[in-house]
Amino acid sequence: MVTSRQDTKVTVIGAGPAGLGCAALLKQMGIKDADMVILDASTVGSSFKAWPKEMKLITPSFPSNGYHQTDLNAITPDTSPGFSVGKEHLSGDEYAGYLNSVASHYEIKVLENTQVIQVEPQPYDHFLLTTNTGKRIYSQYVIWAGGEYSSPRMSAFEGSHLCVHNSEITSWKECEEDHYVVIGGYESGVDAAYNLASLGKKVTLIDNGGEQESTYDPSKVLSPYTAERLSAMANSHLVELEQNFSVKQVLSSADGFRLVSTNGKAVVSKGIPINCTGFDTHLGPVHELFKYENGLPLVNNFDESICQNNLFLAGPKLAHDTVLLCFIYKFRGRFALPCKVIGTELDLDMSILSHYKQAGMLLDDLGCCVTQECFC
Ligand SMILES: Cc1cc2nc3c(=O)[nH]c(=O)nc-3n(C[C@H](O)[C@H](O)[C@H](O)COP(=O)(O)OP(=O)(O)OC[C@H]3O[C@@H](n4cnc5c(N)ncnc54)[C@H](O)[C@@H]3O)c2cc1C
Repeated sequence: MVTSRQDTKVTVIGAGPAGLGCAALLKQMGIKDADMVILDASTVGSSFKAWPKEMKLITPSFPSNGYHQTDLNAITPDTSPGFSVGKEHLSGDEYAGYLNSVASHYEIKVLENTQVIQVEPQPYDHFLLTTNTGKRIYSQYVIWAGGEYSSPRMSAFEGSHLCVHNSEITSWKECEEDHYVVIGGYESGVDAAYNLASLGKKVTLIDNGGEQESTYDPSKVLSPYTAERLSAMANSHLVELEQNFSVKQVLSSADGFRLVSTNGKAVVSKGIPINCTGFDTHLGPVHELFKYENGLPLVNNFDESICQNNLFLAGPKLAHDTVLLCFIYKFRGRFALPCKVIGTELDLDMSILSHYKQAGMLLDDLGCCVTQECFC
């Protein structure tokens, strides 16, 4: 392996919506190409390309940007997946296509197939990054935007190795049995149940909760898109909902698999149980450079690690107290915060930030997220 070293100012790890969104903003602030490196372990938008073929974004796209209502899935104020793809609910492949067009529009060069395997803090709050290709990067700032797709939750209960995680499904058409148990009654679980039932399969959908929380926040309750699909399934007689069933253990049995709950109930699955319990928090090579509370990384008001200067977090693992920023339309509002710190220190042109503010893409006061209510 040939090793080489590059010195730069900013390194963005990950070319999904979070990494590209930050890179696009820094480009609009006038950062020079030599001062920013964007790396991806795979390709631009690769997490989206890995989605099951039938899966679609639950958040709708609509090209309403001109009226200060930026398309919910856009990562810059002047682009719209709804416009570029012409669909309201994009598939993973289609959204990856949108991300590629953003990269080419803002002339963002991504170093693909380059995985960062180590990030070592250096004197004066700099970093030395090592990649799997032998390339090393010495950088003043690091933005971690590696997403969560590489950390499927595989140890939520005993026997979870006997299940398949929904992120491992290429297409629901691969499921050949006539009955499946789906574990997890949130977005991806309902999506799995819906797609299996659409193929004529019987599904037992296991949910560890009872009634939904009384909030409108789609980070905590089903989105309207999913709720609509769930109620359509209620009349199909193919999907049975098993509530208050918290899986304790999955066992192989003569007729398939046996799932036992913490309160002693049991269900049998003919097909391999489908684990839709989500993703763990693992921040790859920067994991140890953050502190955690309730499993979430602790960041300051600029989304910088509270224990490592110049290391910023972008993407769905961002949380501030009770505010979870796990959707694109939420975490995109925070791109401006790390970029503001970096832009100020590197003396970049910050005038673009007023456009971001007007477009609803500068969420510097999270008070609105806590107190906002939908009365009806
Ligand atoms: C099934 C499913 C449905 C969803 N639906 C919606 C929805 O409708 N609306 C919505 O807003 N959100 C949705 N989300 C959430 C959304 O997909 C994520 O929030 C989003 O992908 C996060 O963006 P990201 O850029 O942080 O991560 P990703 O899109 O995962 O991008 C991270 C990139 O980092 C790269 N990477 C990781 N580690 C390294 C490393 N060490 N070195 C170099 N590169 C690395 C990866 O290859 C990847 O390309 C959904 C998620 C899932 C799983």
